[in-house]
Amino acid sequence: MKTNYKNIAILGAGESGVGAALLAKAKGMIPFVSDKGKIKPSYEKELIENGIEFEAEQHSEDRILAADLIIKSPGIPDKVDIIKKAIAKQIPIINEIEFAGKYTTKKTVCITGSNGKTTTTLWIHHILKNAGLNVSMGGNIGQSFARQVIEDLPDVYVLELSSFQLDGMFDFKADIAILLNITPDHLDRYDYTMQNYVNSKFRITQNLTANDWFVYNADDPEITKEMLARDIKAKLAPFSITERNGMAAYLDNNQIILNLKPELIMSIHDLSLKGKHNVQNSMAAGIASKILEIRNENIRESLSDFKNVEHRLEFVAKVNGIEFINDSKATNINSVWYALESMLNPTVWIVGGVDKGNDYESLLPLVQEKVKAIVCLGVDNSKIIKAFGGVVSQIGEAKSAMEAVSMAYRFGKNGDTVLLSPACASFDLFESYEDRGKQFKFCVRGL
Ligand code: ADP
Repeated sequence: MKTNYKNIAILGAGESGVGAALLAKAKGMIPFVSDKGKIKPSYEKELIENGIEFEAEQHSEDRILAADLIIKSPGIPDKVDIIKKAIAKQIPIINEIEFAGKYTTKKTVCITGSNGKTTTTLWIHHILKNAGLNVSMGGNIGQSFARQVIEDLPDVYVLELSSFQLDGMFDFKADIAILLNITPDHLDRYDYTMQNYVNSKFRITQNLTANDWFVYNADDPEITKEMLARDIKAKLAPFSITERNGMAAYLDNNQIILNLKPELIMSIHDLSLKGKHNVQNSMAAGIASKILEIRNENIRESLSDFKNVEHRLEFVAKVNGIEFINDSKATNINSVWYALESMLNPTVWIVGGVDKGNDYESLLPLVQEKVKAIVCLGVDNSKIIKAFGGVVSQIGEAKSAMEAVSMAYRFGKNGDTVLLSPACASFDLFESYEDRGKQFKFCVRGL
């Protein structure tokens, strides 16, 4: 793809769009930012201060379709009118990461997967930072990559990439690409075809050369199947919690072995985050760190003192012997599977919200084994009641966090755990998963 663009139309004025506009301007191009919705006042101010033209609550077609490059926010689907017209006019459409990638030669560690991206991105950043590297994060986290590339100060960027972002990437190349897992999610954006979603996730490997690394979860059936069909040029570093042969990281009696010289051995009990999924995340983070030649003692220390962000299996409080855990970010089946799997006590499970096409079948054995009561927290709970009515005798319905917490508290007794792990998006009753998690915590603390 050529780089000498002049008129750049940027669709979406969030952190990535504004970052892209600032970078385009800094590189001598003429950016025009257009957002179909409202623009946050702080971004509006920044655009004005930098002399960047923009519009809100509309897309001016003539102006956008006159651009020679479009940078699209990953939230905008290809099906919307303006994108269809741009495609018909053969205007190249990329995203902010692809654009920013053209203006840096620094190392990038790129993380994707259906679940665990944020946790693993933060964990890698934590390890590298504590080891003294000049490292920064981007992608779905914090400041946009494009904004950071203007000054380009870090030596390493750790980038969290969703499938939607990967869809807007073509020439970009990671130095270390990490694929954590592929389980059904967002299929509505992929014509309800799993292979389309798998292909999207595997874009993380595009353009990798023999000098680069591909770190992947060898326990994931979708990934291992796809690996057979592909010829990936990079050095391969698979990890597994069930197999040893050929693995860059594996488990041996609750010990994690990072099998890159010098080998690192560490008990899973020393990891700061619990649950099998976090063993996998720690393996991915550990391998990436070893590839970057971080010393074993630094890796060990940072794997054991890392604190995750809110809403991911977050311990809230113990009230009269009942433990409350906030896993509001668990918005699909697979993340709930790992949450339930890690439960050690009889569990009162708060579940529900906007279902993205869930198939609850795979949760049945775990629910039968661990869940004593269910509190449905959604507008329409019929699917959940139908799926679990046969295996859980106590099922209640709540329409607010307060109602859910007090009902769960009544169902629970000393020694139980109340787990908010909804398997659904939150938009029927809450503003976002953060809002749902925060309200849950607030109500728990008020008990
Ligand atoms: P993402 O950024 O991919 O959405 P997060 O790190 O925010 O991932 O975690 C989202 C949810 O998935 C949380 O409920 C978390 O406990 C769970 N989770 C984290 N890592 C994994 C993993 N490797 N496999 C399955 N679930 C995971």
